[in-house]
Amino acid sequence: MITDSKRKLIIPTIPQVIVPPHPEWPPLSPQELKALKEKVKMLLKQQNAVLVAHYYTDGTLQDLAEETGGCVADSLEMARFGTTHPAHTLVVAGVRFMGETSKILNNEKRVLMPDLGATCSLDEGCPYELFASFCDQHADHIVVVYANTSAKVKARSDWVVTSGIALPIIRHLSDQGKKILWAPDKHLGHYVQKLTGADMIFWPGSCVVHEEFRAVALERLRKIHPDAAILVHPESPEAVIAQADVVGSTTALINAVATLPNMEFIVATDKGIFNKMRQVAPGKILLEAPTVGEGATCQSCANCPWMGMNSLHNLAKVLETGENEILVSAELADKARIPILRMLDFAANLKK
Ligand code: SF4
Repeated sequence: MITDSKRKLIIPTIPQVIVPPHPEWPPLSPQELKALKEKVKMLLKQQNAVLVAHYYTDGTLQDLAEETGGCVADSLEMARFGTTHPAHTLVVAGVRFMGETSKILNNEKRVLMPDLGATCSLDEGCPYELFASFCDQHADHIVVVYANTSAKVKARSDWVVTSGIALPIIRHLSDQGKKILWAPDKHLGHYVQKLTGADMIFWPGSCVVHEEFRAVALERLRKIHPDAAILVHPESPEAVIAQADVVGSTTALINAVATLPNMEFIVATDKGIFNKMRQVAPGKILLEAPTVGEGATCQSCANCPWMGMNSLHNLAKVLETGENEILVSAELADKARIPILRMLDFAANLKK
């Protein structure tokens, strides 16, 4: 543990997260790819299942989700979609907390995932026992957790937020004079605090993908492409966010590519998002924000290794075998559902 002397806080030392190598999938010939896609389509129908994919997964999975009546979305929309679709089985191509959230909101449905080992550095870096103890030490704070957390951590919180809704929720709590304990992404937390002036304390977690974007290299790239708009996800470090023309959730960044007049964009988020960006803005030039500084090397290189664990191969397998079902006990789901529904209700009121 380290002490933040300014605020007299004990900041937990979080476990080091081991980042796996990006999985390599066997290459498929055009015929094999077509056959595997047809097989998945047939299995989805047979199993009364729908595919819900995140923007960071492989483009083939994203396209297949849309072709088969499923959805490609950010984690907030993924959670909402499952509650409105009539399918009995939700197949979540994403990372584990997304599958858990789907299960929590759809307890009567079967939720499958291509790989249960697909986790997230934010979730891994926020183990329940350590987190609960941090909350207990600051019992006068409202606990707000990012969606990228386990069901147990969510159950210990007052509010769950996604990057798309974090800002208005924190503003709402701050306007009520609440002190906020924020977990687990420190960069998103600091960004939200800067814009709202909220009284917040932070869990020191980060996303291994966004953490690697480099401000100095980004400045250099902008000089080479002076007309490019810089789009940054708020899980990125402050110095990267400071250079952004648009800071926002995956959905906000996709909308920016579609609506801004620029023809070039430098994008600081997982490059899986380029699949949807190319769809909504064909002809525009998309550049990856640099992930290496002087002498450094990237681990994830703007491509989440856990998201990469989803492929057509293991998608077909879970549909065939029923393996990799997400299970959350009814008791835990009942507790974790409360802060998630609070967020969804808030989002619905905001839309009105
Ligand atoms: S991109 Fe970052 S936040 Fe998203 S799943 Fe991967 S590690 Fe987690």
